[in-house]
Amino acid sequence: MSNIVAIVGRPNVGKSTLFNRLLERREAIVDSTAGVTRDRHYGKSDWNGVDFTVIDTGGYDVGTEDIFEQEIRKQVQLAVDEATSIIFMMNVEEGLTDTDYEIYELLRRSNKPVYIVINKVDSAKEELPATEFYQLGIEKYYTLSSATGSGTGDLLDDIVKDF
Ligand code: GDP
Ligand code: MG
Repeated sequence: MSNIVAIVGRPNVGKSTLFNRLLERREAIVDSTAGVTRDRHYGKSDWNGVDFTVIDTGGYDVGTEDIFEQEIRKQVQLAVDEATSIIFMMNVEEGLTDTDYEIYELLRRSNKPVYIVINKVDSAKEELPATEFYQLGIEKYYTLSSATGSGTGDLLDDIVKDF
């Protein structure tokens, strides 16, 4: 089976925005019907000639965070079962939440590589507030702006090293 990267995280952190961005380049190159597959939860992408499949677990999002809480174990388990690597996305706008701790605890127990991504770091001024995520007990995170694409290159450079 090919390399599979799952994007997990609370609703509204920016998972689908990153998913669409990762697919964009590939579609622009090989798919003349670009845009048609935007709503799919699985997509093909590549980085430096390495092909991989991306899963947007937002397909299992159900709107509010309350309901999402009940779905967390299922969603994370699906991602862990299916993926070779996991992107755990949080965002600097809302900061670190109880749900984030809960998701991270589940991911930590998997034997899959987990890449911790702090999204919505749209400019240098969000780098400092992002340091609060060290409270999770992590050694490294990637700051990203899925909206502009900045930071995605450094993340993908490291992810494809797993493959
Ligand atoms: P999901 O629920 O995790 O899939 O999140 P979405 O991708 O649907 O994004 C939720 C909201 O955050 C949308 O309004 C996006 O436009 C916005 N968003 C996503 N990424 C960024 C980012 O890097 N910066 C900013 N400022 N907004 C973002
Ligand atoms: Mg989504």
